[in-house]
Formats: sequence, C-alpha cells, structure tokens
Amino acid sequence: MEMKKIAVLGSTGSIGTQTLQIAREQTERLQVFALAAGKNVEKMEGQIREFSPAYAVMWTEEASKDLAVRVKDLPVKILTGMEGLLQIVTLPEVDTVVTAMVGMIGIRPTIAAMEAGKTIALANKETLVTAGHLIMPLSEKLHVPILPVDSEHSAIFQSLNGEPKEKVANILLTASGGPFRGKKKEELLDIQVEDALKHPNWTMGKKITIDSATMVNKGLEVMEAGWLFGVTAEQIKVVVHPQSVIHSMVEYVDGAVMAQLGIPDMKLPIQYALFYPDRLFRKEETLDFYKLKELTFEEPDLDTFTGLKLAYEAFRVGGSMPTVYNAANEKAVSLFLNRKIKFLEISEIIGEAMGRHKKIENPSLEEILATETECYEFIESRW
Ligand code: NDP
Repeated sequence: MEMKKIAVLGSTGSIGTQTLQIAREQTERLQVFALAAGKNVEKMEGQIREFSPAYAVMWTEEASKDLAVRVKDLPVKILTGMEGLLQIVTLPEVDTVVTAMVGMIGIRPTIAAMEAGKTIALANKETLVTAGHLIMPLSEKLHVPILPVDSEHSAIFQSLNGEPKEKVANILLTASGGPFRGKKKEELLDIQVEDALKHPNWTMGKKITIDSATMVNKGLEVMEAGWLFGVTAEQIKVVVHPQSVIHSMVEYVDGAVMAQLGIPDMKLPIQYALFYPDRLFRKEETLDFYKLKELTFEEPDLDTFTGLKLAYEAFRVGGSMPTVYNAANEKAVSLFLNRKIKFLEISEIIGEAMGRHKKIENPSLEEILATETECYEFIESRW
C-alpha cells in the first residue's frame, strides 16, 4: 500500500488534532512527516513523541527553543517561524500539506507548497478568501490539486464529482445558523462570550466558533466557495439547515440537486481530502434515516446577521476588499473574546473598515499583507 507523507500546519488546533486522529487510524497509509504550530509547545511535544515526525516548526523563537530542550532525546529537527514553514512544505518527502493554521499566515506556505508540487488539503479558508486570485490560477497552471477540508466545500466537491463545471447553476451552501438562529438584533445586544462559544452542532476552535455565531464564517465560506468552484456571488445561495445533516448541495442547469449528507464530524472531510479519490472505511456512527425525524431549511436573516451580507459585498467588490473583511473580523473577534466590544459590534467594525478602504485591484501578496496591517492599525487606533 502506498504510504502518503503529510505536513500538518496548525497541528495543535482543532483541525490539526483531528488530522492526526486520522493518521492514528491509518498507520499503514499515512505518515506524519512534519508538524507546525504557533506556541503550544506542550501539545507539540506530545505529538512529536507519538508520531515521530522528521521536522517540527514553532512560530516563535522562544517556543522552538523550549521545544528543542524538551525533545532533545529525539532525532526531530526543530525549525522556527515563516522560514521553518516554507522549509517543511517544500521537503521532497512530503506529498500533501494540510493547511490548518488560523489566519493569513497560511498564504505564503500554501503558495510555496504548490510551487513545490504538493497536493494541498486546505482548511485555512483565509488563504482563499484573501488570495484566491493568486492561488487558483497557480493551481491550474501547475496542475496542483487543492482539496477542500471544510465540510461544506468537501460536500460541494463531492457533489460535483464527474460533472462538467458549466452545467452548475447554483451552489447551495448550508449553514447551521449558529447558536443565535432565529434571534433578532434586539435580542443579541447583551450576548456574552460564553453564549457565543456554544455551537449547537460542531466543536471547533474559538475564533471559528464566534464566526459561526455571527455567520461571518458562512461569509468566509461563500468567498472560499466562489474561488474553489469558480462561481459568482449570485450563484452561491446560503441555506440555513439547523440539523447540519446535508453538508451542502449543487444545483445543476436541469434542476437536479446533488447533495452530500453525513453526521457532523470533520474527520470525514479531512480523510476524504487526504486520500482523494479513494474512500476509506470509517467505523464511526453513520446517519440513521429511520431516526432522522426532519430536515428543515430557512433563508438566512441578513438584517440580523449583517456579517454575512457584508461578505457578499466584499466578494462582489473583490480585489483587496475580502482581505479587509477578514482582517477586520479577526481583530473584532479578538476584541470580543477579550470583552472589549459587544457581540453586534463585530459586524459593525467589519462594515466600518470596509467603508473606509480604497480597493486595490488584483493585489499582490505584499499588498494583501499590507492591507491586513493597515486594517489592524485602524481598528487598534479606534477600539
Ligand atoms: P484552532 O484555533 O483550533 O487552531 C489553530 C492552529 O494554528 C493551532 O495549531 C495553532 O498553534 C496554529 N497556529 C497559530 N498561529 C500559527 C502560526 N503563526 N504558525 C503556525 N501555526 C500557527 O483553529 P481551527 O483548527 O479551528 O481552524 C484552523 C483553520 O481551519 C482556520 O482557517 C479555520 O477557519 C479552518 N476550519 C476549521 C474548521 C473546524 O472545524 N475547526 C472547519 C473548517 C475550516 P498553537 O495552538 O500553538 O497556537
């Protein structure tokens, strides 16, 4: 059996640890060759002891020094920062790079990995949202596949299997609606951090859980889908589906709708991206249609969840605007988690940041990163 070697960027996070769970289950087929994380040295040490990667990267100098001391009895090479990330994604041994770190830090390693011919299992949505215009043409030019890890995009990808792209009419992107589905703005005035961290169906990292509560996550996914599948904002319809059983759908020109269904578990889309086009056995619980009482659908409330509306606007405007949307949201979520702003202010800040930004058409990587910094500075100076 062919052994696939992977590099996992963001191995200590929610997607990263679930990716390693697949590696734990598929020891015959998957080898963890390199790991990277931000600062969580303790968790990284445990992962190194369990998976024996050849390389490990920590973002800060301090963390990598600490890690080096902890694992000095092992042959693993410890690297640091962006240089370390760029090095592990281009290692000749690595077949697939799993991009599961949070933030725009993912763009450069993704481009470097593609240039080195690696398959990308993409979880880091910020990469496509802000640099889709650089990534997608590169993927086509270099014939490097980008396999979506995000459950909705994996569902769309699976529903597109074998069908010509020009026959797609619409993409129906499902959304659970988050913990505040059905609520109006007035009811969200005093939302606390703890309320927003309670997601009904999925267990995820903190930032993305808040993004689900504001529906900004869905907004980012709209843009991600636009780039991945080459469709316009008008062709992407968000469908609120609280049970999260249908993970997304594709509607074709003849009216046929293809969907992918399953229990809400990220390990399935992660595994699919790692072994595509193969499907491997999973012993996890499966959908029991006799017990599924109802599947319901609603239109998203764009007046309450203005973050979703702004995402459509950012995607339509294009250029550097999605970067502003993403960067403003990141800052605003961190302010909210630190109890500096109210829940509804997250989307207000995004709107304000977008309103004052002068769009750069077709921004280079440097311009994208400069736009992010500028947006951060604006928010820091105001809140
Ligand atoms: P988490 O916050 O759980 O994990 C983030 C990971 O990134 C951690 O391993 C963290 O390391 C690492 N990291 C942070 N900064 C750096 C850096 N500078 N260099 C290297 N690694 C870094 O996030 P999630 O796993 O929830 O999400 C990761 C990405 O996947 C996001 O883009 C998210 O939108 C996307 N995604 C997540 C889904 C989910 O279910 N969670 C579903 C679909 C997409 P450390 O712990 O050391 O700080």
